[in-house]
Amino acid sequence: MIANRVRHFGTTIFTEMTALAQQHKAVNLGQGFPDFPAPAYAKEAAERAIRADINQYAPRHGLPQLRQAIADKALKHEGLTADPDTEITVLHGATEAIFATIMGLVNPGDEVILFEPYYDSYIPSVEFAGGVPRFYTLHPPNWEIVAAELTALFNERTKLILLNTPHNPTGKVYSHAELQLIADLCIQHDVIAVVDSVYEHILFDNAQHHTLATFPHMRQRTVTISSLGKTFSVTGWKVGWTIAPPDLNQGIVRGHQFITFCGVAPLQAAAADMFAWAEREGYYQQLGEMYQRKRDFLLGALAEAGLPPLRPQGTYFTMVDISHLGFANDVEFCRYLTTEIGVAAIPPSAFYQNAADGATVARFAFCKTDESLAEAALRLQKIRQ
Ligand code: PMP
Ligand code: GLN
Repeated sequence: MIANRVRHFGTTIFTEMTALAQQHKAVNLGQGFPDFPAPAYAKEAAERAIRADINQYAPRHGLPQLRQAIADKALKHEGLTADPDTEITVLHGATEAIFATIMGLVNPGDEVILFEPYYDSYIPSVEFAGGVPRFYTLHPPNWEIVAAELTALFNERTKLILLNTPHNPTGKVYSHAELQLIADLCIQHDVIAVVDSVYEHILFDNAQHHTLATFPHMRQRTVTISSLGKTFSVTGWKVGWTIAPPDLNQGIVRGHQFITFCGVAPLQAAAADMFAWAEREGYYQQLGEMYQRKRDFLLGALAEAGLPPLRPQGTYFTMVDISHLGFANDVEFCRYLTTEIGVAAIPPSAFYQNAADGATVARFAFCKTDESLAEAALRLQKIRQ
């Protein structure tokens, strides 16, 4: 009975591995969600908003105080100026932002360049729009971009390039030179760039997050996407946004008004307060420091267990090399790890077109309490025995 357009979608790898982790009482370092509380201020702000009866529809492009707060934050942290009325749209998480952006900007037959491993919602979003995905494959251990290979993907049918930095699942932070190459190609071929930057505040070892929209001549052809989920440890709140020039913003908002019409109004009000609080408290700095500590602990534990980590520069994920362990592939390894060792990880082959490209690595999340990470470290030692 179901429609052809969804017939081939399976269950997401995140749902599958979380279910397996629960079944085997494994420490879940698979699906990327924090297992610790959100900042108390965030919860109070949400409570205040509901008590203040911010319970009815928000404007289709978002509550004005949140759009203003997003504009202030983009200027302060990224040097990006945006008009809150014509260039910012609030949506239901980065997931809807990605979907509405692609639906609003891609015509059937248009080519969309994606980097793999990719976040899993990118391909279905392109498919729903009738776009044709073209892939640039990032390879372990360095995930670097070879200019000639990327250049070869651009042609007269290319409409859009979608990238994610800091990058899930590799932890790569795109360098200034890589972004400049992308900018040059977008300008030369009149292509729109969409940058998913949901991990923008989770950076390590002084890595720098560069904003493509601030590169010369890119402002008018770039959509910047982010959300509250990772930054405030509230992945279930689903407050996301786009920053785009007015014509591209129109493409996004016209679809969005018929997808969800508006995001969750009280959480949008809370978000505006949370941004102000975060600036007052130096929260973003503290977040980065917390995750650097968690990363360093997990990298140490993985190395000790004979799983050499591929050191991430950002995000709350690390890849590890499993090529020497004698498993047929990453799926077999992650199933073994979850069911026999009691630690769940994600098999990255789910994020590649050709499963073999992800078969020698596994992804671990460290957005977990120190206790969860310590328990995982203990269990991982069994791999060696
Ligand atoms: N993009 C990337 C790269 C992600 O990792 C995630 C989080 N799962 C999202 C988008 C979706 O974000 P949200 O929860 O705000 O929809
Ligand atoms: N972004 C999370 C991850 O990469 C999971 C998101 C989801 O479950 N859809 O693990």
